[in-house]
Amino acid sequence: MTNKNSKVEFLPRSHFQELIEHLQQAGYTCVGPQVHEHAIHYAELAHADFLPQGMSEEQSPGQYRLHEAGHDRYFAWANGPQALKPLLFTPREALWQSSNNCEDNASLCFKELIPEQRPLAVIGARACDLAALYIHDKHFLQHGYRDPYYLARRKNMLLIAVNCTHPADTCFCASTGDGPRATYGYDLLLNELDDGFIIESHSEKGVAIQTQLNLQAAEASQLEQANDAVEQAAARQTRGLPAQNLSQPLLDNLHHPHWEEVAQRCLSCGNCTAVCPTCFCHSELDEPVLDGSHSVHYRQWDSCFCQKHSYIHGMTIRDTAGLRYRQWMTHKLGSWHEQFGRSGCVGCGRCITWCPVGIDITEEAKVICSGDQHD
Ligand code: SF4
Ligand code: SF4
Repeated sequence: MTNKNSKVEFLPRSHFQELIEHLQQAGYTCVGPQVHEHAIHYAELAHADFLPQGMSEEQSPGQYRLHEAGHDRYFAWANGPQALKPLLFTPREALWQSSNNCEDNASLCFKELIPEQRPLAVIGARACDLAALYIHDKHFLQHGYRDPYYLARRKNMLLIAVNCTHPADTCFCASTGDGPRATYGYDLLLNELDDGFIIESHSEKGVAIQTQLNLQAAEASQLEQANDAVEQAAARQTRGLPAQNLSQPLLDNLHHPHWEEVAQRCLSCGNCTAVCPTCFCHSELDEPVLDGSHSVHYRQWDSCFCQKHSYIHGMTIRDTAGLRYRQWMTHKLGSWHEQFGRSGCVGCGRCITWCPVGIDITEEAKVICSGDQHD
């Protein structure tokens, strides 16, 4: 919901650096999209010059290519392999340390390793990223089970969203109801036009930053242009899941032959779960130092596509790629509804683009949920 003090104003592109400077003066470390190793990633952003100006991308199953597109825009692309997930739920993190060098002469003592987190301002969050964040907040901050590591990062985060106007061929957020327009979960919202941005604030923190920019109100023609661009972005999406809740169709088709057909192609590499903004499976391990004085306990991302992930009581219960793919999809699109009241898919399309063999969740779900067994 828009803050009562919110104003809808125009920020010329030539003044974008001022937004970054005001955030920095307010104590935030800015994080924004940048080109790194031929893809767009979030990284610490010192200056607007490092944003991916003029870049666009082509995405299709198993393909991602960035190119210079001959425009001046900063955000004329859909998404890179990384969502907000690694900023909050880090790929590998030390949780606690045990030591035999204790102050109170105890034989063993434990110390929690809660991260000290600088306030972060994340520039460029997309609607699908915010939807995924809503799910992770429900998971990591649920009543009675708050994850202190996630919380330490989350409570200091300011989010500056950008409405999507250049969806990739693999995007289907319109069909999941999560985009391309951001409608919640952010402090400031940007709509990019040829010469600048419509900016509006949705929180007190956002209002405080926007007020310092001393901007003019946006014109009606600019608002119309911004609105049309987002509507056209939604209309351009061609992929989609068969329905928002696939729990029953998936349960009805647990023995569909198409699971095996997918398994023949699936490499069990886990790329899909690594890039997915909502996947949160992890494993835990202890790493003792060689002199035996202490040991550090880590949490690191895991994947339901790894054989070891389903190892339990002396056996691996999902020992084939078919069973593992079925677990992933039936959880993500089915039983997630019981856990979180919605699907675990926000339609970002990353698992389609970054699957090395181009397995497409929308196509596979359509075949399996149709019940049609003539594969
Ligand atoms: S399942 Fe695929 S399309 Fe859905 S949120 Fe995860 S990566 Fe994105
Ligand atoms: S579906 Fe694709 S990305 Fe996922 S584990 Fe299989 S091969 Fe890897």
